[in-house]
Amino acid sequence: MRIRDHLSATGVPDFRFRQVISAWKGSAAETFADIQALPPALRSDLSERFGPRLHPLTAVEVQHDGQVEKVLFAAESGARIETVVSHYRAGWDSMCVSSQAGCGLGCTFCATGAVGLVRNLTADEITAQVMHPRWTREGLPRPASVAFMGMGEALANPHVFDALTLLTDAGYAGLAARRITVSTVGFAPNLARLVAEHPQVTVTLSVHSPFPEQRAEIIPLERRYPLAENLDVLDRHVVMTRRKVYLAYLLIAGVNDGDADLAALAGLVRRRSRPELFHVSVIRYNEAAGADPTYRAPNTRQVDGFVHGLRARGIHATRRRQLGTTIDAACGQLHARYL
Ligand code: SF4
Repeated sequence: MRIRDHLSATGVPDFRFRQVISAWKGSAAETFADIQALPPALRSDLSERFGPRLHPLTAVEVQHDGQVEKVLFAAESGARIETVVSHYRAGWDSMCVSSQAGCGLGCTFCATGAVGLVRNLTADEITAQVMHPRWTREGLPRPASVAFMGMGEALANPHVFDALTLLTDAGYAGLAARRITVSTVGFAPNLARLVAEHPQVTVTLSVHSPFPEQRAEIIPLERRYPLAENLDVLDRHVVMTRRKVYLAYLLIAGVNDGDADLAALAGLVRRRSRPELFHVSVIRYNEAAGADPTYRAPNTRQVDGFVHGLRARGIHATRRRQLGTTIDAACGQLHARYL
């Protein structure tokens, strides 16, 4: 984004930017100096202005757990960013990207929230997680889907909107908007902006409790932007677009898994404008360092029972499959030990 702005401000023809993007998308060039298609003076100018490296991220650690690969990237500022790729047997890959280093919203189930916000990632740093040459060097295709479920609250970072534009731009990442999921704990004003500017992007709203008091204990942002305000945004969105939206429900043993929680959650969904377009994804809590030490993971039977209870009440619900829990790579619950 900054490179395009700089080139256009200095009167450099558009095709030069496309040459930079083409080098970005390939795996050969590491630095601006490596882009042979550019005139030497332009290579030097870009190196001086943006630093020598073409990509703002460097992979510093990689962990594998079966079908899951977690990569720790270092930004030039020193911030650490985690990206997770799930390689599904069906032959497609799903990537979970981070939008912030740390996070300032303090959800009590989340290790990242325990760290606090270090900073918002730039649009280039977000898109670099998807476009990084390490993937092409490993012979991997671009991911079939990208989820903003890594570290950070995506909608608290205004740069996410530029990142979405780049990821869906045919001349850049070229991803279909429907293959991108933005997950939010409920940053209502930017949720409204998201569905207005990118109506085809898939939305997941974290509910985690149907009761405002209890939800505020789990997701403190409830006090600023209540769940009801976020659901109003989604009600209007599904009526306009007829797109399905997802409600995430993190099941924590003894906290939000009772009959009263189940009944209230089902009632909340039934009261929606188009309840058939709201799908509840039940996620098993995964004990994480830095999260509330009293929280416990439910067993598989409890999770399945909760899902069946919702279905028995006429709600579309499934259990979200989680890969890579042994490397703390469950999407949305990334470990923040590096920070
Ligand atoms: S769950 Fe998301 S919004 Fe909440 S603290 Fe963690 S990263 Fe931030």
